Amino acid sequence: MSPKSKYIRDANWVEDYNFLITPKPQKNELLSSWLTRVAFAHGMTLNNFFSHFIRHEGPALTRTDIDFQYNPTLWDIIAKKSNIDITTIQDLSLRSEEGYLFTCNDCLYPPAQIRKLVDKRTHFGLMYCPKCLAEDEYPFFRKEWRYLFFNACPIHKIYLQDRCGVCYERVRLRKMPVKDKVVFCHKCERDLRLTSSVKISDEYHKGLEAIQWFQNGLTNGYFCIGNEKVNSLVIFQAYSHLRYLINRQKNIKLDNFSMLNEYTKLCKKLEHYNSKKSGPIYKDLFLTTMIYHIFQDFPHNLQKFTQDNNLTHRDFVHEFQDIPFWYEKTISDIVPMQNTVGREISESEVTGAIKYLKRIDEKVTQESVAEVVGCHSTINKKFVKIYKQI
Ligand SMILES: [Zn+2]
Ligand SMILES: [Zn+2]
Repeated sequence: MSPKSKYIRDANWVEDYNFLITPKPQKNELLSSWLTRVAFAHGMTLNNFFSHFIRHEGPALTRTDIDFQYNPTLWDIIAKKSNIDITTIQDLSLRSEEGYLFTCNDCLYPPAQIRKLVDKRTHFGLMYCPKCLAEDEYPFFRKEWRYLFFNACPIHKIYLQDRCGVCYERVRLRKMPVKDKVVFCHKCERDLRLTSSVKISDEYHKGLEAIQWFQNGLTNGYFCIGNEKVNSLVIFQAYSHLRYLINRQKNIKLDNFSMLNEYTKLCKKLEHYNSKKSGPIYKDLFLTTMIYHIFQDFPHNLQKFTQDNNLTHRDFVHEFQDIPFWYEKTISDIVPMQNTVGREISESEVTGAIKYLKRIDEKVTQESVAEVVGCHSTINKKFVKIYKQI
């Protein structure tokens, strides 16, 4: 028997049994999806499989979000028992997107970019594309189905589904009945591959283009915006903030955006019929497409969006924690910070800005220094006073 750490022993791991059969993990598969397939191969539900092979209190663990949980001990145990490389196991976890899609300081719940297992504001249960499942030789649930920007399937041009098509129960892998494939509703046992889904009409093709754009950016780790390569994390953080901005804005204006009327109509409908079952998913596709639109023809569309909706610098940065440098700089270029009463400006900031300009051989003027400091060159009285003194 291999030496096991005290920690693992204390944590009540079932030590001695390796998995008997291990189906191959698919590219982009969710850890919970693959584990459910492993469980079914053993003739067990996910809950029972966890109790027998992984941990005595299995069900307690499967009730948590094992796809998002940062749990190196669990990954390690699974890798050993399945005889699969630990990096392959880690790739199945949503944590492998940390630093590209989201950041998280020991957070317990998924940040905005990732759908929680249950959140009625955006979806009902675990989402899926019925046609992807139907075309899979071994059906499996994809990681991207949990990304907030991924609301429709670009391959099949349909909206994702968030529940069973017959009994409307949410999809829960841990409760799924043991069958040869992971595609059955736990409540009525209906085949999820038969769920019908609304087709994305041609005039909404931009929505699919948007999803593809975000997906490619995530895969590459960067987006090409203007003439710059921008780290994907920055764009996804900006995505979350823009989504909040658009959501908040009544009568949003978006120049040249053909889906705007439909979006406004849907928002009105949602105010009255909150329970409309696919409403939030449709709305999400609009939001994703609008954010995509704002990043196109850079910086023109962003500028126009800002002007038409009378947005201020503060609107873009307020409540945005750990603002990435690229975003801050972009917004400052478009909407200069009118710092009259806001942030206190110190003498060292101003001297630092002057030093910086000299170092890069730029002209030192009241305007250029203010730009580096990030305030208005004449309106900000404190700045003017410090500048004149120096
Ligand atoms: Zn699909
Ligand atoms: Zn059902």
